Amino acid sequence: MRKIDKTKPVLVTGATGYVAGWLVKKLVEEGCRVHAAVRDPENKEKLKFLDDLAAKSKGSITYFKSDLLHKGSYAEAMKGCELVFHTASPFTMDVKDAQKELVDPAKLGTRNVLEEANRCESVKRVVLTSSCAAIYGDNIDLQQTPNGIFTEEIWNSSSSLEHLAYSYSKTLAEKEAWEINKKQNNWDLVVINPSLVIGPAVNPMGVSSESFKLIKQFGNGILRTGVPKMGWGIVDVRDLAFAHFQAGFVSAAQGRHIINGHNTWYIELAKALQPKYGSTYPIPKKEMPKWMIWLMGPIINKAITRKFIARNIGYPWVGDNSKSIRELGVNYRPLSESINDMFQQLIDNKIIQAKS
Ligand code: NAP
Repeated sequence: MRKIDKTKPVLVTGATGYVAGWLVKKLVEEGCRVHAAVRDPENKEKLKFLDDLAAKSKGSITYFKSDLLHKGSYAEAMKGCELVFHTASPFTMDVKDAQKELVDPAKLGTRNVLEEANRCESVKRVVLTSSCAAIYGDNIDLQQTPNGIFTEEIWNSSSSLEHLAYSYSKTLAEKEAWEINKKQNNWDLVVINPSLVIGPAVNPMGVSSESFKLIKQFGNGILRTGVPKMGWGIVDVRDLAFAHFQAGFVSAAQGRHIINGHNTWYIELAKALQPKYGSTYPIPKKEMPKWMIWLMGPIINKAITRKFIARNIGYPWVGDNSKSIRELGVNYRPLSESINDMFQQLIDNKIIQAKS
């Protein structure tokens, strides 16, 4: 149990990211001095949204050039910090070489950041952004859980380099973090395991997160004929930022935390968009039959393999968020608020356009 001094700088890795954007906003609003570790501190355009956040807040942001794959590149950024938020990790399904593009930055990057924490005497706590993907691989895995629910006790054992490589990368990275944490006593590790994150971005134009690619499909016609019948855990990015903040500053916080607002289905996202956008955008109205996905899925998107279809379509997703409510005080907002705010932002920024 460690008390973090809010007057000391706080490191955020991957500060340019979708998830990190709201966390940095919360930190500077609370008056923190944020050390933002980014790959390219010279990219003024990409960092403008962070400058704008700092300008409007009590806190400040200082940039440091760091890369997950460059050993020692977090040393300067970590100097003097008691608290480290390690959010950086690629979140994409579209890769050619999963080892190089996902597993190495996730696992070796986590090792790089945490070995730096071992060297840096000021660090007392590391908050790692893991994922529910480190808890489960496919929805069918729910059937192997003790009470038909994913909990913090469970680890993903079904993903591999060949099947759901992103989930595999997050599992290896979190395991690596716990291994490194166990071997020392100077800092504690608090892990955040979000389900699929939705909601508006602080910086809607610059995000690479897979979350945006998924939600864009509700408005660009790709899902016009229907959505797969598939369960999802969903959380709002603003609630997730709060969870991170609490994980950093609540002294008693410990272990893993499932951060999940809703156990729901794909079609429920579409239903929540129908009232406001159904007449102007090609929002899906129904679920597609499994046989159609079986035939078309692999042709439309190479990530939708037959193995993925067999192990996910038709199965629910159920996660236990009670620890996050009890120990971090997260109060999850309604699903329709998250999806509608995000969709409106995509329209406002002309990322999706109305039916012609
Ligand atoms: P994102 O917007 O793509 O952010 C990823 C961040 O990681 C970016 O800041 C990126 O920096 C940084 N990064 C990637 N490769 C790097 C490297 N080699 N060196 C240094 N930085 C690197 O994705 P996100 O959705 O916010 O994801 C943030 C975290 O949340 C990840 O750990 C992800 O696994 C986790 N997560 C996300 C979701 C979700 O649904 N979005 C769910 C569960 C967990 P650049 O700007 O330089 O590319």
